[in-house]
Amino acid sequence: MFQIVGLIAAISAIVTMSRRRGTDIVLWGGLALCGFLILEYGGAAFLHLRGLDDDLVFAAVAGWLWIGAIFLYVRFGIGASKPKSWGMWTCGECKYLKAANAIVCEACGKPFVPRVGKSSSTLGV
Ligand SMILES: [Zn+2]
Repeated sequence: MFQIVGLIAAISAIVTMSRRRGTDIVLWGGLALCGFLILEYGGAAFLHLRGLDDDLVFAAVAGWLWIGAIFLYVRFGIGASKPKSWGMWTCGECKYLKAANAIVCEACGKPFVPRVGKSSSTLGV
């Protein structure tokens, strides 16, 4: 039971983070879920067939490590080269307040625009 609740929480965290990073939420959420199921259940079946029932915990650990790795990649890998905010920021389009780790607006899909660059280009004209 805890496993299912934890899995739902972890997948929704990855989906939320994917949306903030402006990447494909179905791809990353699905990749995390499929990888987890393959490692956890495929790994457990493999260990069971080999008669290694004492090591079944490693299949679950591998599944959770996979989820953790996906989350960290989406959080820190994707969009690492894109402009990002150092704190909470407001979307210029819909005025919705965004978290610091968001690089696109979840509401309208507009990417984060550094305020300094925007005002200096206006002054240059
Ligand atoms: Zn917006």
